[in-house]
Amino acid sequence: MKLECSIVPHLSKPFTRFVLNILGKSGLADAIKPLFGGMGAILMFHHVGHRAPRYFGGNDHLSIRPEFLHALLDEFRRECIDIVSIDEALKRIAKGNTKQPFVALTFDDGYRDNIETAYPILQAFKVPFTLFVCSGFVDRKICIWWLSLEQIIQANNSLDLLIDGEQYHFFCPTKNEKRQAFARAARLLSSVNDDVLQGAMSRLYKDTGHNALALVDEEMSTWHMLKKLNQDPLVTIGAHTVNHPFLPHLNEEKALDEMVKSAIRIEEMIGVKPKYFAYPYGFKGAVGKREVDLAKKAGFEAAFTTRKGILLPEHEDHLWSLPRVSVNGHYQNIPVTRALLSGFPFYLANGFNRLKTL
Ligand SMILES: [Zn+2]
Repeated sequence: MKLECSIVPHLSKPFTRFVLNILGKSGLADAIKPLFGGMGAILMFHHVGHRAPRYFGGNDHLSIRPEFLHALLDEFRRECIDIVSIDEALKRIAKGNTKQPFVALTFDDGYRDNIETAYPILQAFKVPFTLFVCSGFVDRKICIWWLSLEQIIQANNSLDLLIDGEQYHFFCPTKNEKRQAFARAARLLSSVNDDVLQGAMSRLYKDTGHNALALVDEEMSTWHMLKKLNQDPLVTIGAHTVNHPFLPHLNEEKALDEMVKSAIRIEEMIGVKPKYFAYPYGFKGAVGKREVDLAKKAGFEAAFTTRKGILLPEHEDHLWSLPRVSVNGHYQNIPVTRALLSGFPFYLANGFNRLKTL
């Protein structure tokens, strides 16, 4: 999961979409891509499916329609952009500048729709992809707090949250107020340590009669599904911790445990040890030098953040803090994707810097 944040800081979503659209449609993105586009990009997805029009959309940024995934793969084929595995992407980074642009596809958390909805499309295009699996979800041991929070806000006109002894009340009868309440509550919950977050959410589940484990069952893949999927040579399964925590909130031993034990559990259940890791949340506050060192120590060959950026040969020295490009549900449009892959928006967002690491 990643929290929603703007592609270019300080610009509103509609304005950003408008500018990116012009950049993509006018051909300007293609013209400047040789300057800013780097070698390629690691794309990050979460859900692929038709979100029921039930919600005010707190998590809409995490979900794209299957038709858009299809259109995206079509676009890459038309533009002769290679779709490669992470193994191949790392080889190309090691080789240095290549003329042939590429993307690698990654899916975070281990959602059921990745297998039921996205996989048939990926299979039809015969393209490789990676699933970063959070083992606690698949074991049905932890709840998906951001999806539960969204459901609870949708079903209620107000929200009472007790976080670390502090009481928060949100009045949210309208769609807009629900959106604001979700954004604020998600920020508050992500600023506290995992025990406090889980405690606040458990209390909320109890107060509202929400069945959080039933939602996990509905949304997450099973070990049986993952084992079967992993028989396809085009599939790579990576690790994404056991409990999906904010790693900097844990002490070193626990943070390392989250990485190592998720890999052990995945190997135990599907028979292959994950070589790659994706940091939960993955943004600036969720991954620092300590987490990067721990991912190395845990034995992963590379690790992925949710920091926005394209790939450069210099990333050879930063394999445990590789940036990704989020395929965001609010920007399901080919010209926008073309604009993002030009690298220029990230060059601006990263303070006129093409290289994004930490
Ligand atoms: Zn995640």
